[in-house]
Amino acid sequence: MCATLDLPKSGVVLDTRGVLTPSDFLAALRARGATRLAAVRFRNNRSTVWSLTQRGTVLNVHAAFREAPPGLLDAFATLAAEGGIGSRQSRRAAAAISGWPRLKEAIDDARRAHEGRRTAGQADGPCCATPGQRAYVLALYRYFNHTRFDGRLPSDIPVRLSRRMTSALGHMRPGSDDAGQRRVSEIALNVDLMLEGNGAERADTLLHEMAHAADYIESGHRGHGSSWRAWAHRVGCRATTLLDRPVHYRGRRDQAVTRVPPLPPALLEL
Ligand SMILES: [Zn+2]
Repeated sequence: MCATLDLPKSGVVLDTRGVLTPSDFLAALRARGATRLAAVRFRNNRSTVWSLTQRGTVLNVHAAFREAPPGLLDAFATLAAEGGIGSRQSRRAAAAISGWPRLKEAIDDARRAHEGRRTAGQADGPCCATPGQRAYVLALYRYFNHTRFDGRLPSDIPVRLSRRMTSALGHMRPGSDDAGQRRVSEIALNVDLMLEGNGAERADTLLHEMAHAADYIESGHRGHGSSWRAWAHRVGCRATTLLDRPVHYRGRRDQAVTRVPPLPPALLEL
C-alpha cells in the first residue's frame, strides 16, 4: 500500500481499461486452463514479481499486473497450470512477465519513492480532490491523529488525492526541511478510495500511511519493518502490504471521481 507505484507523468498513455481485481485475475487464469489455482493475491512491494505458494494453488503477483494485458494473462496461466518453471514454454512466459515495461516503471518508481526526495514540499502530481473531498480527507486525518496517534503527527501534512495511481492505494513521501529535520512531504491516497464500498480500505490506507509518517518522523524508518508494524498495531490498521480485499475502481481511467463519502458531523469540528 505504501509502495508509491504511481506511474511517471510523462510518456504514459492512460487507457480506458479497468483494472483487475484478484478474483477477476483468478477467473481469467482459470478460464485459460490454470484450474489448480485457488487464489490470486496482489503484492505491492519492490521485490515480488510473482510466486506460486501453497503447492501451486496461490499465485502472488505484483500489483502492477492488475492492468495486465491478455497476452500476459496467457503467460501467467501457463506458469500456474504448470506450477512453476519447468518447460521452455513456461520459461518464455516468465520472461515475458518480468520484461513487461509497466512492471519496471512501477518498481523503479517505488524504489525512488522509498529512497525519498530531499526537497521539501515536492509533489509528483496534482491533487485531484474537489473542495468537498479535501475537507473530508483533512477531517479524517485530523480525527485519526487525535484519536489514534495522540496528536503526535503534524496537523499540516498535505494529504492529497491522486488519480494517476494505478497499482497503489496510497503513499507517504518522506522529506526534510532546510535544517535537515525529517518532515513528511505528503500523504497521497488513490482517488478510487472515495468510491462507494471502499470505506474500510479508505480508513485502513490512511492509517497505514499515517503510520509511515509517524514511523518516519520518530525513527527515520521508511519501510514495513518492526517499528512500522508497531505503529500499525497501535493505531489499528492491518500490518501488511497484502492487498487481498476487494477494492472498487472507477470503470474508466479518465473518469472523474467526485464523490465525497458521508462523514459524521462531529468529525468536521475537530
Ligand atoms: Zn506501506
